[in-house]
Amino acid sequence: MNTFTNEPLTDFSKAENKNKMLAALEKVSHECGKTYPLIINGEEIMTKATIQSINPSNVDQTIGIVSKASKHEAEKALEAAYNTFTLCADWKSTTPKIRADYCFKAAQRLQEQRFEFAAWMTYEVGKNWAEADADVAEAIDFLNFYGHEAIRFGKGGDVLQYPGEKNELVYIPLGVCVVIPPWNFPLAILVGMTSAAFVTGNTVVLKPSSETPVIAYKFVKLLEEIGLPPGVVNYVPGSGSEVGDYLVTHPKTRMIAFTGSKDVGLHINELAAKTAPTQKWIKRVIVEMGGKDTIIVDKDCNFESAVDGVIASAFGFSGQKCSACSRVVIDESLYDKFIEQLVQKAKTITIDEAQKNPPMGPVSSKQAFTSILNYIEIGKKEGELVLGGKKIEKNGYYIEPTIIKDVSPTARIAQEEIFGPVLACIKSKSFDESLAIVNNTMYGLTGAVYSNNKKNLDKAKHEFYIGNLYLNRKCTGALVGVHPFGGFNMSGTDSKAGGNDYLLLFLQAKSIAEKENVPGNSR
Ligand code: NAP
Ligand code: MG
Repeated sequence: MNTFTNEPLTDFSKAENKNKMLAALEKVSHECGKTYPLIINGEEIMTKATIQSINPSNVDQTIGIVSKASKHEAEKALEAAYNTFTLCADWKSTTPKIRADYCFKAAQRLQEQRFEFAAWMTYEVGKNWAEADADVAEAIDFLNFYGHEAIRFGKGGDVLQYPGEKNELVYIPLGVCVVIPPWNFPLAILVGMTSAAFVTGNTVVLKPSSETPVIAYKFVKLLEEIGLPPGVVNYVPGSGSEVGDYLVTHPKTRMIAFTGSKDVGLHINELAAKTAPTQKWIKRVIVEMGGKDTIIVDKDCNFESAVDGVIASAFGFSGQKCSACSRVVIDESLYDKFIEQLVQKAKTITIDEAQKNPPMGPVSSKQAFTSILNYIEIGKKEGELVLGGKKIEKNGYYIEPTIIKDVSPTARIAQEEIFGPVLACIKSKSFDESLAIVNNTMYGLTGAVYSNNKKNLDKAKHEFYIGNLYLNRKCTGALVGVHPFGGFNMSGTDSKAGGNDYLLLFLQAKSIAEKENVPGNSR
């Protein structure tokens, strides 16, 4: 039986927890600026080329200088992963229980060091304390959940027994899995994809996001400390377009687990579909991509809780969640009053350096900063700016919470993923019209409906075409095991991370029929 339970979040109103976080931030601040190697087959390799990871709250602070793999090191990592998969007795013949134990041990280590891991994310990607803590908790959850799941799959599948035969269905790993995570859940998503791959017996080449290579290194080191055999997880930060493409097209790559933007996901899917001359398999591809997530506010709803839900979903972590609400579709009877309340509430969101634990920190990078400000300029022409719209003059990438009303459902800011603290408000005449609007993008990731009308909620269950639907609650904050996560259409392959079907994507099933030696049985 899966005895998994979700890791509780830290209550920072307790002085004890607050002090632990302050101590962790202090400790980590002294460790910022160090250099880090690649890790291939357990060997630490320093390269001349490097990636500089900086603090988006204070761009003068270097978080770490990380070795940067070229194709040469990517090849080495792939060979290491391939040889470990095919030759390493310590890995090949290991039981699911032993592999699961690595996950449980890693989860325990993360629990012990949760404040320190959270502090690294606060510095490296600008998460406030609660967001960083939730990221660590989700990583712990993935490890524990997939550990239990691997043991379950290790027992094999149910098959009928044919007379005179012993029939089995066993699940076996695929081979080398290239794991390519994004920066926005720099620990949780990386840990989820990596652990799913190795707990099922595959080996991993991990190319972290170039925005967050330090937190990735910390986790790979943790795996080394708990005794994961060398070569099982190989750490090769590098340019997505150079190293990423090389790993994806490599004939020895058996599968790719990617989470990131639509454009890169589609590119990977296309590259992976091409068969190299020596390639012996069809590559399996998981690509989880972007969203244009929408909340419907029905005319009969709990008004206050709808306002709070939209605010939390739109501006938590500066709107940089794939599940973030970037459009709210409001019934015309409430429209003006609802926007007034949204603006009132959003005005109270203060912005500061993430280390100081503000409600909202910076956006992640210069590139994100420029792109979001550009969308705000587009939005100002597509609707009426009612809040924010400006950058904040500080030594980081700070953008005000921004609300734009009277946006057409087909406007660019109502269709394209912005990935920042920008909310488009759209007026609707009826619940049916609201449903038509929410389904009018190419995405299909998350969404929510605030309504007291049971008929409308039922209608949304059938017609709101998204992977993760929430009724009368915010559309962010999926919990492992509770809300398996993944989107429809251009939001991805709907892999449902943190769900019971997820590990199947990292396995192949083998049917075995053994004829019983029964006298007279000749079938
Ligand atoms: P991104 O720009 O697509 O990058 C994601 C990863 O892909 C990074 O490690 C990146 O490396 C790598 N990459 C870039 N070009 C590549 C290529 N040609 N070949 C192979 N790898 C390549 O996405 P992001 O900005 O990190 O993350 C934000 C996006 O992720 C948003 O669209 C968000 O909605 C989505 N997301 C989706 C989910 C989900 O579950 N559906 C969850 C979280 C985030 P470099 O950093 O070196 O470029
Ligand atoms: Mg950074």
